[in-house]
Amino acid sequence: MPDFFAHCLIGVITPLTWKRKRGRDFLVAVILSTFPDIDAFFSSLHRILLHSVVILIPLIIIVDMILKKYGYRVYQRLSLSLLPLIHVIMDLSTRGIPVKILFPLVDYGYQFSWLLDSIIINLLQLSPYSYFIEVIRVDLVLLLVVLFLIITNSLTCKYIFD
Ligand SMILES: [Zn+2]
Repeated sequence: MPDFFAHCLIGVITPLTWKRKRGRDFLVAVILSTFPDIDAFFSSLHRILLHSVVILIPLIIIVDMILKKYGYRVYQRLSLSLLPLIHVIMDLSTRGIPVKILFPLVDYGYQFSWLLDSIIINLLQLSPYSYFIEVIRVDLVLLLVVLFLIITNSLTCKYIFD
């Protein structure tokens, strides 16, 4: 499963893909990219309460309104608002406690790490070194998310105007 630093890294990378960035943007992005794990302080609710899209989406709408008030441009608000959802997707696509993405509507935890296993097993066969599958899975997910952020942020910077 991605650790705190992996989620932080996504927050740090996000403003780097923008044309205009300020120091505070990095702090805001790191807070939003790690935000869902606040529920880890309540162990019985970890990967449930703030990893549920049912609960996250209204919070994201509120965050977007706050970001708008502080002068963030549309493309910045879009990428910042997606960070908690990207966090949940990263947790879903790696191992760890199953994520209850539809809580409280559906009380079932999901885990989609198996989707990447065939790619990872093929990568391991090419490597002369032995790695833990989960390490490669997290690295692969990190790489895919970074590429997604770079591509989508460059497109939104280009085509979405304020
Ligand atoms: Zn998490």
